[in-house]
Amino acid sequence: MRRRLPAKIFNRLQEIGRLADDIGMPAYLVGGLVRDLLLGHKNLDVDIAVEGDGMTFARRLADQYGAGLKIFDRFATALVVFPDGFKLDVATARRESYAHPTALPTVRPSSIKDDLYRRDFAINALAIRSNASHFGELVDFYGGQRDLEAKTIRVLHARSFVDDPTRVFRAVRFEQRFGFRIEKHTLTLLKEAAASDLVRRLSGPRLRNEIMRLLSEQAPARAIRRMAEFDLLRFLHAGLALTAHLTGLLSDLGKSLAWWTKRFPRRPLDRALVYFIGLMDELSSSATDAVVNRLTVPGEQANKISLVKKHLAPALRFLVRHRSPRPSEVYLALADLPDEGLVLLVAKARTKDIVHLVSTYVTTQQHVTPSLNGADLKALGLKPGPIYKQILDRLLKARLNGEVKTKADERELVKKLAKA
Ligand code: ATP
Ligand code: MG
Repeated sequence: MRRRLPAKIFNRLQEIGRLADDIGMPAYLVGGLVRDLLLGHKNLDVDIAVEGDGMTFARRLADQYGAGLKIFDRFATALVVFPDGFKLDVATARRESYAHPTALPTVRPSSIKDDLYRRDFAINALAIRSNASHFGELVDFYGGQRDLEAKTIRVLHARSFVDDPTRVFRAVRFEQRFGFRIEKHTLTLLKEAAASDLVRRLSGPRLRNEIMRLLSEQAPARAIRRMAEFDLLRFLHAGLALTAHLTGLLSDLGKSLAWWTKRFPRRPLDRALVYFIGLMDELSSSATDAVVNRLTVPGEQANKISLVKKHLAPALRFLVRHRSPRPSEVYLALADLPDEGLVLLVAKARTKDIVHLVSTYVTTQQHVTPSLNGADLKALGLKPGPIYKQILDRLLKARLNGEVKTKADERELVKKLAKA
C-alpha cells in the first residue's frame, strides 16, 4: 500500500486507523480503490466502511482534523473534506434488501461481510482493514483476489442482476476496462437479465449514469459492441443497432478524439457525449429525442445533442461540396456546432482538407468579432433597429474574409452600407 498510494492518502489511512481504534469501531477501505491497489492501477477514490456507526466516525474524524462534513442521513453515508482538499467517503457497513427488482435497496447497519456481499462483483467486494492494530489486512470473503488473478468478473449470487440490472452494464465496463472475462455462470445470468425486461424498469438517471460511465472509458467502441452482443442497445431505442456504418464511425471517432486532444489540449470536451451522439447517428431527430427523454439527459448535454443533430449534416454537406469555401462560409457552417459536434464532423469527413478547415476555424475564425459594436453604430448616427444586426453580421463577414482590417475600415464599410 505504501508503495502504490500517494503518501498523503497513505498517511490519512493511518490516521483513520488510529481513530478507528480509539473509538473501537472496525474501519475498512472498500470498493474500487482496493481492487485497483491490487491491480496496480491508479485510483484516488477513498471509500471507508465502518462497522458500527459510520456517522459518529465521520463526525469524530471531521472534528479531529478540522475537516468539512456532509452527512447524507437517508443513506447513512458521509463526505469528509479535509482542509487540504482531500476527500473521503464514509459509510456504515450495511446489509441490503430489495423490495422488488430495480428498486433502491432498503439498508440496515450490519457487518463488513454483509456489506461486501451486497456489492456487484467479487473483484469489487474486497476490503482492507485500516485499524492500526490490523492495518493493511486484506478482507476477502468472496474470492475477489482469486478473480483478480484469474482476470474474472463474477457476481456474488444468482439474483445479483435481478436485484440491480445496472450491474449488466457495470460488468461490461469492468470487463472491457481491465480486459477481464465474465465468468461462465455470471455470463449466463447476465444474458438472462439482458434478455428480460428488467433494464426497462430502471429510472432514467440510473440507466444514463451507467451508459455515460461506459462511454467515458478509454475505448468505448468495444464496450458498445459488447452491449450490442447482449442486445442492450434496445433499451436506449428500439431502432438502435450496431450497423457496419456505426462500427466504422465509432472507430473513426476514436481517431478524431485523439486528433482533437493532441491539437487542442486545453479544450477538453465531453468524450462520453461524443460517443453518445455518435451512437445516435442513424436515428431520426424524433428517435434521438426519445432517447434523450428516456435517459433524462440533463439540459446542457441535451442541448448539445440537439444542436449537433440539427447542424452537423448540413455543415458536412457544405464542406464536402465546396472545395475552398471562404472563411465566412466556414464560420457560418460551423458556428452552431459545439466542440463535440466538430469532433464528430471530423470523424465523418475524414479528408485532410476538412480537418484543416475545422482546425483553422477553431484556432482563428471562431474568435473573430467586428471591432465596432452597437454603441459605435449609434455614434455614427445610425438609428437603432434590426438593421444593427444586419450590419454587424456584415462586418463580421468582412472581417473573416479580410475585407476590412482596422476599425477605420469598418467605419468606412458601415457608411457605405448605411447609404445603400
Ligand atoms: P470506478 O473505478 O469505475 O469508479 P468502482 O469500483 O469504484 O469503479 P463505483 O461505481 O465508483 O465503482 O462504486 C464503488 C463501489 O461500490 C464498487 O466497487 C462496488 O463495490 C460498489 N457498487 C457500486 N455500484 C454498485 C452496484 N450497482 N451494485 C453493487 N455494488 C455496487
Ligand atoms: Mg469509483
